[in-house]
Amino acid sequence: MGRVYNFSAGPAVLPEEVLKEAAAEMLDYKGTGMSVMEMSHRSKAYEEIIQTAEQDLRDLMNIPDNYKVLFLQGGASQQFAMIPMNLMKNKVADYIITGQWAKKAYQEAQIYGKANAIASSADETFSYIPDCSDLPISEDADYVYICENNTIYGTKFKELPNTKGKTLVSDVSSCFLSEPVDVTKYGVIYGGVQKNIGPAGVVIVIIREDLITEDTLPGTPTMLKYKIHADNASLYNTPPAYGIYICGKVFKWLKKLGGLETVKKMNEEKAKILYDFLDESKMFKGTVRKEDRSLMNVPFVTGDADLDAKFVKEAKAAGFENLKGHRSVGGMRASIYNAMPKEGVEKLVEFMKKFEAENTK
Ligand SMILES: *Cc1c(COP(=O)(O)O)cnc(C)c1O
Repeated sequence: MGRVYNFSAGPAVLPEEVLKEAAAEMLDYKGTGMSVMEMSHRSKAYEEIIQTAEQDLRDLMNIPDNYKVLFLQGGASQQFAMIPMNLMKNKVADYIITGQWAKKAYQEAQIYGKANAIASSADETFSYIPDCSDLPISEDADYVYICENNTIYGTKFKELPNTKGKTLVSDVSSCFLSEPVDVTKYGVIYGGVQKNIGPAGVVIVIIREDLITEDTLPGTPTMLKYKIHADNASLYNTPPAYGIYICGKVFKWLKKLGGLETVKKMNEEKAKILYDFLDESKMFKGTVRKEDRSLMNVPFVTGDADLDAKFVKEAKAAGFENLKGHRSVGGMRASIYNAMPKEGVEKLVEFMKKFEAENTK
């Protein structure tokens, strides 16, 4: 069996070119006589891998020198705790609740201090992004927290919230490197890489240097201090070495494509194919307010749970995998990350048209 079109929300599709390169280097990485999986993280060869990965990410995102790039473990979910433990000096933070991941982060922060939900789109099952131009930001908030692209619901902040001068912390797990960003607008940008960059097991944290201090909440474990990882260039202990190596290859692939401006154009083209069809179809409907639609995760429904199930089943048989919506919302979801070829989206839409014709009386 050949490769399928994999619409998984994560772990997700990776560029075929990257997988082939990794396969070719599996037994002997550049004359070292061993796989990257087998080598010391303190070796010359590995030092070059992690340093090059960091530099390529800095180039792609235009990361200023006063920001550190950390390659950590524990997934995005561990950041839900690490952020308050390291940043809650006043023990107050404001959270914008745009879905389950934001909510989980908010709930975790309550363990460490006063977390305020200052806006939410829960009233309409997170199908939109609330107006964040004039929110009741807390006077003494240590930061304002958002989940920038809501993987489950398919919404994306097209404009960052007005934080009224407070530090912005953003979970970009499912939109990482999908388009250019102005890093200077954030205090912390972080994400698990298994959505749009690499294999599960790596989380990347881009953090402004002044936010990295010794002054963490009492009881913060050493491994959960940004400072220990920053001071040791992500090599305090054994990092997720092989995962970082694959991320590095994806960074090179993105650079070769032409950088994030080009990647954004490609993503817009791809998403338009699917959204245009959803807007004209009589059977399939997008679930998100148009102006808040994500370029990465596209949820849709037929309005009939049995028909949804039939579609998912027949799509799978035709080579379109993982189109079932998140278990909390049902319906379908096509995740069309950077590595999903345009052809995959075109073929999916062809298949949807055919399904619609066959199932309309
Ligand atoms: C998947 C996801 C998470 C959780 O990631 P883990 O690495 O599994 O902890 C958090 N936030 C967003 C936006 C996600 O898409």
